[in-house]
Amino acid sequence: MNPLLETQFRVPFDRIEAAQAEPAIDELLANCAKRLDETIAGNRPLHALDTMTERLEYAMNVVRHLESVATTPELRAAFNAVQPKVSAFYSGLPLNAGLWKAIQRYAATGEAKSLTGAMKRYLSKTIDSFKRHGAELPPEGKARLREIDVALTEATTKFSENVLDSTNAFELILADEKHLAGLPPSAIAAARASAESKEKAGWRFTLHGPSYVALMTYLDGAAIREQVWRAYNLRASGEPRDNHPLMARILELRKEKARLLGFRDFSDLVLDDRMAHRGDVAQKFLEDLRAKTERRFREENAELETFAGRPLQPWDVSYWAEKQRAALYDFDEEALRPYFSLENVVNGMFSIFERVFGIRVEPEPAVPGWDAEVLCYTIFDRKSGAHLGSFYTDWFPRENKRGGAWMDSILTGNPAQGHPHLGLICGNLTPPVEGTPALLTHREAETVFHEFGHLLHHLLSRVEVRSLAGTNVAWDFVELPSQIMENWCWERESLDAFARHWQTGARLPDDLFQKMKRARTFRAANAQMRQLGFGIVDLALHRQWDETGDPVQYARSILAAFAPAPLPENYAMILGFTHLFASPVGYGAGYYSYKWAEVLDADAFTRFHKDGVFNPDVGRDFREKILAKGDSDDPAVLYRNFMGRDPDPNALLARTGLL
Ligand SMILES: [Zn+2]
Repeated sequence: MNPLLETQFRVPFDRIEAAQAEPAIDELLANCAKRLDETIAGNRPLHALDTMTERLEYAMNVVRHLESVATTPELRAAFNAVQPKVSAFYSGLPLNAGLWKAIQRYAATGEAKSLTGAMKRYLSKTIDSFKRHGAELPPEGKARLREIDVALTEATTKFSENVLDSTNAFELILADEKHLAGLPPSAIAAARASAESKEKAGWRFTLHGPSYVALMTYLDGAAIREQVWRAYNLRASGEPRDNHPLMARILELRKEKARLLGFRDFSDLVLDDRMAHRGDVAQKFLEDLRAKTERRFREENAELETFAGRPLQPWDVSYWAEKQRAALYDFDEEALRPYFSLENVVNGMFSIFERVFGIRVEPEPAVPGWDAEVLCYTIFDRKSGAHLGSFYTDWFPRENKRGGAWMDSILTGNPAQGHPHLGLICGNLTPPVEGTPALLTHREAETVFHEFGHLLHHLLSRVEVRSLAGTNVAWDFVELPSQIMENWCWERESLDAFARHWQTGARLPDDLFQKMKRARTFRAANAQMRQLGFGIVDLALHRQWDETGDPVQYARSILAAFAPAPLPENYAMILGFTHLFASPVGYGAGYYSYKWAEVLDADAFTRFHKDGVFNPDVGRDFREKILAKGDSDDPAVLYRNFMGRDPDPNALLARTGLL
């Protein structure tokens, strides 16, 4: 039998073959279509909707996961073949007139009116979601909505291609070794390798992240920095790859879509089911933070100019900031590595959160994964002994594995009824080298904690409605459980539980700890103003830009107030801003979420800071009121239940030294 057709807690990763994916998914899709017909004809469409896709979800989770961690050309082809069919099925649901009628019929029944808790929320969320997808529009409205969606997909795809192509179209070859002055050896080696790969002499620099950042941070030659900075900030700003008209078109289409669906603007449409709920709330949130950051921002910029001894241009800022950082903090992050062996980090992290959240983590050495390096663990409730969930870890890079770090779910169970959850966390951490275990940077240790937070959100979930369980929460709330965990990497007490020298077992020396803390707040106001500027320009474009003016000049006029040095007249960074314009929604009207989530995690952590980072009472509260709840209630309500009040940005300001 095809193993993808049979939902199993012990996933037989070693028995799944690429050739099984398409037949299994086709069969499961046919099964979903049949169940959809039954749902429409039946009396309880809501319950049916919640469970209808359970088997399909499992099979897709497994296939998608294997494609990201152990891919082969066959598996990639199989995934690419099934992916469009599956997303077509899901996106067809809110447009299915029969299903919409069945839900409306159900909503009018006595049973629906007497729903409480998660089920009540599921009904209202389902109705809202159908409406946001145009379920209530007359036929001509639905037709126009489809046209807008097609046009948005085309325009955003083209926007993204233009950015990529104009990024790739640039190269700078330095032929003379003396022009490399200031660059670290690693950047010089990378530039040489890049030139070699193009069969060129000299050193080659591009606008891609590592090359661009190294050049702007270290290269002594200001004229070269200026040339590259200008190229970067003029990407996709002229023929033959001009994003100017596309950006205006995307903004107009988004506004038209929002109006058609009964919203004031695109931000209100996108934020309707997020924690902020409305564009003006997010905007006010950012403006408040800005007011509290501006004074320190100006001071930092004045300090940097004093340090450099002259007025600075935009292409000078990173360069002089790095010089200032080195002068102020004699701190080499590499010195931390011996204290962060992966084994100590992971086991220490487990022991911390066993205490804090009342759980027990046990390795399951006999359970095979998708690679020899994969480990399996089980989480029990400490008090009742109940099996809450299991998870896999896969920490090191491999050729057949995608980059980055992430958490994923395989099964959403129901531990209250004896069905545990199943999930996984993956990373691309520094691997061990001969004779030395894997020694992580502090940032990598934070990543391990971050992904474990997402994982606990899934594994500790106790929500009766599958669709509202675990990490299925609002976009601007989902990073609270993950980011809050990173705080345990910054407290003396908790560091002592895992930051131990891999050879001697010594704790992190205090002077190193103090340096690490001080370096954290270096130019924090600049970092914050940069993010606030992006968030504010994003919302202004989606809320206030009136479609008559030039959107690029409009964006520039806003961003100028957030830049550490005067911006040139033709500054067009916004035309390369793929976060906002490279997909129909993406981070559009949602860039504020980065700061929003930081405020939530810094503020929520103050309870642990005050009552103890190992305090099991605060831990139980966080587990019961946040981690267990998924999306079973409005995130603002969940947050208030835990904190007793609304989020307060002061904790973030204090953490970054801005208070
Ligand atoms: Zn995350």
